[in-house]
Amino acid sequence: MDIDAIRERLRRELLGLIQRNAKIAATLRREQNPLGGDWTENAAVLENDEVLDALDAEGRTRATQLRAALGRVAAGTYGTCMRCRGPIHPERLDAIPEVTTCIECARAA
Ligand SMILES: [Zn+2]
Repeated sequence: MDIDAIRERLRRELLGLIQRNAKIAATLRREQNPLGGDWTENAAVLENDEVLDALDAEGRTRATQLRAALGRVAAGTYGTCMRCRGPIHPERLDAIPEVTTCIECARAA
């Protein structure tokens, strides 16, 4: 397992999320286009807000998970299942770098 490459990937994904979240937050604050169009226009904007809200929440959750994963890299516990303390398969880590449990524990949960 190349821990440097993993740390780099986690950082890159976290940075991407932070940038995306900042854009979403700016849109929700309506810095670029304030409400004030006609009713159908405003309705479309508010509907879009709901989608952005969901994306925003999802992005924040993943950012928290990525930060936790970086913490595990720093602590030297990255790749160790948090339930059984066994190793997490590298392919699983590659697919979901912020994952905290091995496949067996994930199935059991
Ligand atoms: Zn496990």
